[in-house]
Amino acid sequence: MDYPEDLIFTPGPTGTDSRVRQAMAECQINPDSDPSFPGFYRETASSLARIMGTSNPVLILAGEGMLGLEASIASLVEPGDNVLCLANGPFGKGLADFVQNYGGKAIVVEKDWQQPFLAEDVENALQENPRVSLATIVHCETPTGLLNPIEEICPLLANRGILSIVDAVASIGGDPIAADLSQVDVVLGGSQKALSAPPGLSFLSLSPRAWNKIEKRKEPFRGFYLNLKLWQDTWLNHGTFPYTQPAPDIAALSRACAIALENWPQALENHSILAAAVRTSLLENGFQLYPLSHFASTLSAFLIPEKIKDITFRNHLWEKYRVQIGGSLGPLEGSVWRLGHMGFNAEPGRIFRALNALDRAFADFNLPTSLASSFAAELSQKGKT
Ligand SMILES: *Cc1c(COP(=O)(O)O)cnc(C)c1O
Repeated sequence: MDYPEDLIFTPGPTGTDSRVRQAMAECQINPDSDPSFPGFYRETASSLARIMGTSNPVLILAGEGMLGLEASIASLVEPGDNVLCLANGPFGKGLADFVQNYGGKAIVVEKDWQQPFLAEDVENALQENPRVSLATIVHCETPTGLLNPIEEICPLLANRGILSIVDAVASIGGDPIAADLSQVDVVLGGSQKALSAPPGLSFLSLSPRAWNKIEKRKEPFRGFYLNLKLWQDTWLNHGTFPYTQPAPDIAALSRACAIALENWPQALENHSILAAAVRTSLLENGFQLYPLSHFASTLSAFLIPEKIKDITFRNHLWEKYRVQIGGSLGPLEGSVWRLGHMGFNAEPGRIFRALNALDRAFADFNLPTSLASSFAAELSQKGKT
């Protein structure tokens, strides 16, 4: 199997640029003793800060995206805290579970998964639950392909002194996020989504207000690996690391950031144009998009055609055409597919080839489609090919 020809169009982990894989393979520094490592870490963190739109320090943690989510909840939420958890998808619900696990009171506000949370939803929820000190929300709900407008919601929370924790794992690098402008207190990202580095790293930034909440805990959080205070007592205040850092993973992420920043912020506009062309192509071919509005630019979620069996088709697509797309999670499993077009895959030629493979695979299942040509026509109409 010729690995570079494989198209990994799942909504993260994604395909990766060979330069990113190379950076990882060629990294053999000892992060504990190499005098250049702290500067390298700091530089990578600054690139991430730029991509996230924050001037707050960024931490890179050695663990997949979930680590940042859990560490921020574990460190910020104290027993008895009332936390508003906005849940219009599986990840939103997952954050509420973390809150409960760490002794917080999760006030879960649910909304139809096909629709975004809007400012008025949050206003209403706060009217009913005035004693809230924190709120969690997911920017891009990857299982549904929907983007919540955090730029409308977080300022409203900040005005009331409520700290916002935003899971932006699947949006950072692909959809605009201006953390400081939007007054987001905690922004969470992962290496394997729209930055297209290998899985294995979380990154996050905390506002001074969020750090303050951690410092003022009545009872210190007793854990070690999940304790963000540890990072304040070491790296942030003294420039030392609490444990050995995964230098090769960070080298890969650093290269991935450099690639994104080569073409920044145009990279965001590209994601948006390509995503719009994918959606047009899906609609022209009779597919139904899952979200009703607020589509993410990093992936497209659409309903699986009636006569087609999810796993059978995706296995065929992979085995015969070397293209992977994603199924969905929870109740959407078996009825929704997701085509990731983020980071490395946000490139017209690669998307064309993935759609072309889909056309051929659909033809094998007696469902004629012309996704690739609709996509190309739409792009050339926009003057982008
Ligand atoms: C990918 C992702 C995560 C991390 O979860 P994994 O499935 O373990 O990669 C967290 N939140 C969101 C919104 C994600 O898309």
